[in-house]
Amino acid sequence: MSYSTSVDFGKLKAAMVAEQLIPRNISDKAVLEACRRVPRHEFVPEKLRQSAYSDYPLPIGENQTISQPYMVALMTECLKLKGGEKVLEVGTGSGYQAAILGEIAGEVYSVERFKDLADNADRVLGLLGYKNIHIKVGDGTLGWSDFAPYDGIVVTAGAPSIPESLVKQLKDGGSLVIPVDRGGFGQVLTLVERIGQTTRTSDICACTFVPLVGKEGWAE
Ligand code: SAH
Repeated sequence: MSYSTSVDFGKLKAAMVAEQLIPRNISDKAVLEACRRVPRHEFVPEKLRQSAYSDYPLPIGENQTISQPYMVALMTECLKLKGGEKVLEVGTGSGYQAAILGEIAGEVYSVERFKDLADNADRVLGLLGYKNIHIKVGDGTLGWSDFAPYDGIVVTAGAPSIPESLVKQLKDGGSLVIPVDRGGFGQVLTLVERIGQTTRTSDICACTFVPLVGKEGWAE
């Protein structure tokens, strides 16, 4: 038996929720349940599987990372999903955050700029049986207008500022969660709530994400 097959991933997954999420005040039952269900080890490269449930991000190729479990849970909790919503994710990466969203929301649309990452995420999500997660290759700073407006939008890469296109694709009452650069002070996870034609913006916490590269993001 290889090392990887002898690891009890179910036990590690339960410990991740009990030791990393609950003590840090993730309390939304739907989010905790989603984190208990989604097999995170299926979304990381084979040789890193034994670290899949550890308290940090991991490399997934193309110089990109799968976010730390706590950050995925926190961003999802910010959307206050009840079930049945239409959600946009910018930065599919491994597909793990999309799976967490897919467990709770009705439909998930996710945009990734690297084709090989998008293809791999699509393959893993297909194998796991997700039918409500739709992935496209493109510049997610422009959103995905075909399916807009969205109840929630999650950006999983750090932006220089809040992309106007994403705010426009948010439903009235919807929430956008996005890491935004504070020039020299690092990134701040920012929540933007749309209220009619206005928005309310609040800081959640300091964070570190790979750069959001695109027309309304950083230059290549
Ligand atoms: N949500 C991912 C995290 C991936 S890291 C997960 O759960 O694994 C962020 C991802 O954003 C990277 O894959 C990167 O390629 C992608 N990205 C960066 N800028 C982008 C853009 N403008 N449009 C779409 N994807 C982008």
